[in-house]
Amino acid sequence: MHLFRKTNQLVHWITGKKKDGKKIGFVPTMGALHQGHLSLMKLSLDECDITVVSIFVNPKQFNDPADLKRYPRPLENDILLVIKESVDVLFIPETNEIYPAGEQSRLDFIPGNLATTMEAKFRPGHFEGVAEVVYRLLQIVSPDYLYMGQKDFQQLTIIRKLITDLHLPVHLVMGPTIREENGLAMSSRNELLSADGRWKAGIIYQTLFDANRKFDEGGDLSNIKMAALASLSQEGFAPEYFEVVDGVTLRDIQHPGDSNFIVACCAVKLEGVRLIDNLIWKTEE
Ligand code: AMP
Repeated sequence: MHLFRKTNQLVHWITGKKKDGKKIGFVPTMGALHQGHLSLMKLSLDECDITVVSIFVNPKQFNDPADLKRYPRPLENDILLVIKESVDVLFIPETNEIYPAGEQSRLDFIPGNLATTMEAKFRPGHFEGVAEVVYRLLQIVSPDYLYMGQKDFQQLTIIRKLITDLHLPVHLVMGPTIREENGLAMSSRNELLSADGRWKAGIIYQTLFDANRKFDEGGDLSNIKMAALASLSQEGFAPEYFEVVDGVTLRDIQHPGDSNFIVACCAVKLEGVRLIDNLIWKTEE
């Protein structure tokens, strides 16, 4: 495996591979790798000639400095995991490699309502930071395929719009959410929970699942949402939202017939840790 810390060295290496006609797959991460990240690497390894993984804890997407500070960074273990997956390239840049002139934006992109709803209400500026870093990483890696997880559905939707609006020559591939035994979506943040909290957090997936069943049975959507919020209000849990939205526009769904692509998304705070999850309730595919 090639390990790059300098942007110009990675760009030089990739330019050579592209000249040889190699198909490049890219998996951007913030590290503290788990099976969710590894599943995206596996997709890329299956579909591409070269797989590039980045580990970069992007300061620009943290609206809460305490959250940035305590974000887990088990770098040695991460490097071992990436080597074990037989990934071709690992890119671990310092902040000034990504933001050489400081963190001011150079991106001409308006995510519109995609970046004002759900997560954005609780994390102002977060998606602007995500769009900025993904854009910069895409400029550096210039992949043919970009792999991102359904787990961060709103993020994925915004990156899809970024790619479309700026005509970026990359295909976005959505990998399925990988879950723990109790249904909790794997996340680097799960490490911050107590063992008891981590077990109880299985209620999030259970709630999305039960609500989906009621939706399929023709239940009233506002009642379903109220019941879901009640289910996520158990002792120690503080739900932030439970929304049922169109999977492309993220606009609220009132009736099942409103869209062919319906996704339920929620966020819950537990032991001071924000946990997000979602479930696709209706899709054409
Ligand atoms: P992060 O390191 O949290 O920025 O995540 C890097 C990528 O991994 C993003 O595309 C996430 O959506 C994806 N990801 C995170 N958790 C999971 C999961 N449980 N299953 C699948 N993909 C995930």
